[in-house]
Amino acid sequence: MAFEGLADRLQSTIKKITGKGKVSEQDVKEMTREVRLALLEADVNFKVVKQLIARIKERAIGQEVMESLTPGQQVIKVVKDELTQLMGGEQSKIAVADRSPTVIMMVGLQGAGKTTTTGKLANHLRKKHNRNPLLVACDVYRPAAIKQLETLGTQLDMPVFSMGTEVNPVDIAHKAIEQAKEDHRDYVIIDTAGRLHVDENLMDELQSIKNDVKPDEIFLVVDSMTGQDAVNVAESFNEQLDITGVVLTKLDGDTRGGAALSIKSVTDKPIKFAGMGEKLDQLEAFHPERMASRILG
Ligand code: GDP
Repeated sequence: MAFEGLADRLQSTIKKITGKGKVSEQDVKEMTREVRLALLEADVNFKVVKQLIARIKERAIGQEVMESLTPGQQVIKVVKDELTQLMGGEQSKIAVADRSPTVIMMVGLQGAGKTTTTGKLANHLRKKHNRNPLLVACDVYRPAAIKQLETLGTQLDMPVFSMGTEVNPVDIAHKAIEQAKEDHRDYVIIDTAGRLHVDENLMDELQSIKNDVKPDEIFLVVDSMTGQDAVNVAESFNEQLDITGVVLTKLDGDTRGGAALSIKSVTDKPIKFAGMGEKLDQLEAFHPERMASRILG
């Protein structure tokens, strides 16, 4: 389960302060020191930790008195609020284009879970929003990726648009959207190529697709197990493509949680979904507040 170490540490820190009828400045300092260590150990970006701790200290020391809470509880509320804000505050929605179809471009490194998430997202849109997406196979370098998407399409009983490996991905994406219009499909989800590392050719190709299809959303799929690397990957994709949101995969694993807690503040782009397993129904809308509650117990 994700965040286990972080949750354990924060919860024991919090236990020490919860019942206190009076919280001294010294108590707050000790608490923030422990929170700081717990976050660093969970691989949260150190700049992010620094800013977060400064805000917690400022609010917890000079805090306004709320009658319904003990001072100890108030300090914890501050920590929870700040963790929630760190992960993006309000849960953000998925775009709907004024004119159908809404186009979503999925980007990310190979192995992050892009193709799986394309299938999961299509499933989510149909089940939760009553939509009928068209899936598009634009990874022309890996026939296996096209096959994988086609298999997902069969499992979901959903059409997959593919033109094999000989056609330029920009043309594939373009034609897919025309096809979606003809077939009255209201979402088009484009699965693009990944690489093992961020590289210029890949970014050029993704930019060309972006310029042509003008997507309503560009979702970056990142593997939460890769920690700080996930944050760096998010930073470079965002710089090059101006993504609109992030999907964090493999949060069902024993990730230390650093990526989830750093990505929003480093990229200023919301985490929209979390992958919680390999199955097609294991995608959840990402709720910062619920996640903060889960971490703090
Ligand atoms: P792509 O190369 O980015 O398209 O990655 P894939 O979609 O092929 O996924 C790579 C591997 O990660 C596959 O074995 C998936 O089943 C697995 N995977 C994807 N998302 C998740 C997730 O949320 N949790 C777990 N446990 N595995 C996942």
